[in-house]
Formats: sequence, structure tokens, C-alpha cells
Amino acid sequence: MTKADQLEQKNTHAPVLLSESIDALVVRSDGIYIDCTFGRGGHSREILNRIGDTGKLLAIDKDEAALASDNCKQLLKDPRFDVEHGSYADLSRFVKQRDWVGHVDGVLMDLGVSSPQLDDAARGFSFMRDGPLDLRMDQTQGMSAAQWLAQVSESELKKVLQDLGEERFSGRIASSIVATRLDAPIISTLQLARLVEQAVPRRERNKHPATRTFLAIRLLVNHELDELQQCLPQIIPALKTGGRMAIISFHSLEDRIVKRFIRDQSRPGDSGLMGHEPISNPPRLKKAGGIVRASTAELKANPRSRSAILRVAERTSVCA
Ligand code: SAH
Repeated sequence: MTKADQLEQKNTHAPVLLSESIDALVVRSDGIYIDCTFGRGGHSREILNRIGDTGKLLAIDKDEAALASDNCKQLLKDPRFDVEHGSYADLSRFVKQRDWVGHVDGVLMDLGVSSPQLDDAARGFSFMRDGPLDLRMDQTQGMSAAQWLAQVSESELKKVLQDLGEERFSGRIASSIVATRLDAPIISTLQLARLVEQAVPRRERNKHPATRTFLAIRLLVNHELDELQQCLPQIIPALKTGGRMAIISFHSLEDRIVKRFIRDQSRPGDSGLMGHEPISNPPRLKKAGGIVRASTAELKANPRSRSAILRVAERTSVCA
């Protein structure tokens, strides 16, 4: 393989649960669809393959590199396809701008990071490759991991490692980070990875000791759980009756948010007007099938699919 081929291969992302998610999502070929997480467009491409000439697809990604990729440029030649740089937490703005409120047939979210983000050392997502400690998906916004680590208090750091990374040695790691940064700022991925390695007394099997720390910091600097929580309620008014949402998550904290949201919206709500009899509103969603995980063949071909969970729900009658 030539160096150019290797680079090209590095810049790709094997879409996870591709046919399972798109089979569940695209039930009408003339519909309007939104892919909230373009990445390298594996799912977007498949949606375009399934919809007819009058169908439309909007893709969103907060990473400029995703939208600057050859895959995106190629898909933009298709008049049915459009992209927005930004967060899916702004979904309703993108929907309103297009007059799509109540007209969308399907919304897809394939959460987390893409392979090119992990593979590019310069992005700082990987504790296996040395690079600047950035970890932001959108480098045009917010604080890098290095900036955050430079100013966070020890107690806050411990809490983040515990809550978002489920790291049992959060106290030791936090105190080691705070002690180290007195001498020199923590600015590179390998510097942080080594520091964590030295701070933890025991290793988990088959897991680099810095895995949980990097996950926690990534979730924090990208506001991943908050933005997911903001996005989900914006999907419902966008959908038409029978419109679907298909969400692929990769770890338990994400999946819990999705599962609870679908469960809560699948129950009758009460509008709780003060001083009046509570009015029971009909459920706004209903589950479409159970949870779906990767097949044995996909697990073999793509280890990233190991933790993937797909959940699908359908908009109940919009007028009800
Ligand atoms: N389905 C894609 C891969 C998606 S990977 C494919 O087949 O190629 C997840 C993508 O979601 C990443 O590119 C990441 O930048 C993007 N992303 C993560 N959080 C986001 C957010 N809040 N808003 C928009 N995009 C986000």
C-alpha cells in the first residue's frame, strides 16, 4: 500500500449498524431526512441511495473537517443534499430555516467520534499517538482539553473523571494532574496518558489506563451529553406523523439518555395547568422495535461496533 493509500484509508470511517439503521429510518422514499452526525457520510450516502428524486437530506456536523472531506464535497454534487456546520443542539433552527417543522420523515444520530478524528494525532483524541491535547470536535468553539485542565479545580476534575469516565481512581488521577501542572502545563496527549498510567495502581484487562480519563475529558469539552439532551426534544416537533428517529449510541451514559427520553415520550404526558384538572396528553412517540446491536459479521469486521446500540422511535399522530 502506498503512503497516499494509507492516508486515504485513514480518512475513512466504517459506518456502524448501517443497513439496520437506514432500514428502520427510511420508510418513505420521497421524504425529508436529517443526518445529525455526518462524519464521513456513510449513513448519509445510504439515505441518498434509498430516497427518490424528490427526497431531501440535510446533514449536520460540528467538525469542519467532516464538511471539508472529499466525501462531503462529492455528495454536495447531489441537488437533494445539503450540509450545515454546527451542533445538533441547534436542530430546530436548521429545521425552521427550511420550513420543515412537522415535515421531516426521519432523523438519524450516530453519536460520538469518527475514525478520522481518532486517527489524526493533531486532533488530540488518541492516547496512543502524540499530539496537542485538544479533543474538541469543533475547534472553532470553546476550550481545548489542555486549556480546561490548566484551570479546573481538583475537586471538579475528580468529579468529572468519576461521573463521565466512571473512573475508580479519579482522586489519584486528579491529584496527580494538579501536582504536575504546578511544574509544567499538560499540553500533549502522551504526557497525559503517561501521567494517568503512573497514577493508577491497577490496570483493567484489555484497556489502556487512560481510556476513561480521555473519554471523560472528551465528553466534557464537547458538552456531548448536554447537547444530546438538548437535541432530543427538538426532534419531535420536526417530525411528521409516522416520522422516525434512529439513534446509535456507544456508551451507557449516552444510551441511558436516549432510552429514558423515548420511554418518557412514549407515555401520556400531563400538561399540569395550575388550578385546572390536569389534562392528559397522548404520547408523542412510540418505540419501533427493540434495541439493535451489531451482527457477528460486523463485530468481526469493525471492532468499533462492539458497544453500539440502535434505538428507533416513531412520531405518533401530530394532531392528537
Ligand atoms: N455516520 C457517520 C459517522 C458519525 S461519527 C459516518 O457514517 O461516516 C460522529 C460525528 O458526529 C463526528 O463527525 C462528530 O464530529 C459529529 N458530532 C458529534 N457531536 C456533534 C454535535 N453535537 N453536533 C453535530 N455533530 C456532532
